[in-house]
Amino acid sequence: MGRFQDDEAGYERWLADHSDLFVLNTARSPAPNYLVLHRAICHTIASTPARGTRWTGEYIKFCGQRAELEKFAQAHAGGTASPCRLCL
Ligand SMILES: [Zn+2]
Repeated sequence: MGRFQDDEAGYERWLADHSDLFVLNTARSPAPNYLVLHRAICHTIASTPARGTRWTGEYIKFCGQRAELEKFAQAHAGGTASPCRLCL
């Protein structure tokens, strides 16, 4: 599982290489109130950011298999990952 924080280039490279995997979008300190699971191809986490937007700034990304991200959300953030309504 990968973790991207303040690493736009690394995150974009990961997305390009792992379009079949999943992304958990969460706050810098993962908390149960914001844990959203996306497919790596979801445009809300993967299209070209609007000017000034950073993908790994205010929110950070954990990337990997769906099952491991769901397990991580339970174990480290104390909550359930909510599937994105657009891509899952
Ligand atoms: Zn999504």
